[in-house]
Amino acid sequence: MATIISGKEVAAKVRAEIKKDCEALDEMGITPGLAVIIVGDDPASRVYVNNKKKACEEVGFVSEEYALPAETTQEELLALIHRLNGKPDIDGILCQLPLPKHLDEKAVINAIDPTKDVDAFHPSNVGKIMIGDYDFLPCTPAGVMELIHSAGIEVSGKNCVVIGRSNIVGKPMAMLLLHENGTVTICHSRTKNLKEICAAADILVAAVGKPKFVKADMVKEGAVVLDVGINRDENGKLCGDVDFDEVAPKASFITPVPGGVGPMTIAMLMKNTLKAAKLQNNL
Ligand code: NAD
Repeated sequence: MATIISGKEVAAKVRAEIKKDCEALDEMGITPGLAVIIVGDDPASRVYVNNKKKACEEVGFVSEEYALPAETTQEELLALIHRLNGKPDIDGILCQLPLPKHLDEKAVINAIDPTKDVDAFHPSNVGKIMIGDYDFLPCTPAGVMELIHSAGIEVSGKNCVVIGRSNIVGKPMAMLLLHENGTVTICHSRTKNLKEICAAADILVAAVGKPKFVKADMVKEGAVVLDVGINRDENGKLCGDVDFDEVAPKASFITPVPGGVGPMTIAMLMKNTLKAAKLQNNL
């Protein structure tokens, strides 16, 4: 039976370290500030934004929420971002995705000052990650790496398979594993022989968005399995992309959903905001 890597516990430790760092900044008169923009009333986005605000309070950051109506225009949203770019007490800016259909996500991401881009979605930050010389790492893949480190798992030389190639999770995830000298394969919806490729992985990361997609026959005996998915099963219960009950007996390490990668994403957002505050203050 696999050892369960608790994202809840690791995230609590990361947040405690950030809180300590924040107290040291406080003595210098610096309070990290995060602006969170939410457009429309998507219930999942609302939950994520509330959790981010709560995490900010817990570590001692200031958070400002900008809740805009669904019918906000592109110009209005960009004007807000420009205003926040110039606001000295705001170190990090995050625009909760997805945006309503009429808004251009790419233009919104491009408008955020890269030094305040705590999601690390701006092309300039994405490019920096590619060459391995970065200020910010995207929160979810960075959280997965932190979980791998916390469990003492060595990536170097391992066969790593990432299922999913999104800009937010799959692609940067593959890049971070590559930076640690993993031999990385990215699988996606057009991949042939998915089962065989996954079954050869020492480290398998699932970022598909399909409930219980990864079954036991896709996993090698003793593999490390990291589940990024946040889905609802047929009974409306939260579940990951991995069929936990089937896969756990075969894996050496596995992350649960909930309580795995999810809490790490927010902890990494706090880490990026702290870093942004230090950068803004030339520390
Ligand atoms: P996405 O929809 O942008 O990407 C899904 C990827 O899965 C695509 O690249 C696609 O090619 C691949 N895919 C789809 N069907 C496939 C198949 N049959 N075989 C192989 N590959 C297939 O999703 P995303 O934004 O990358 O998110 C993935 C999952 O992670 C979702 O469940 C999302 O809710 C979750 N998520 C969790 C966190 C977190 O904090 N834990 C953060 C972001 C996303």
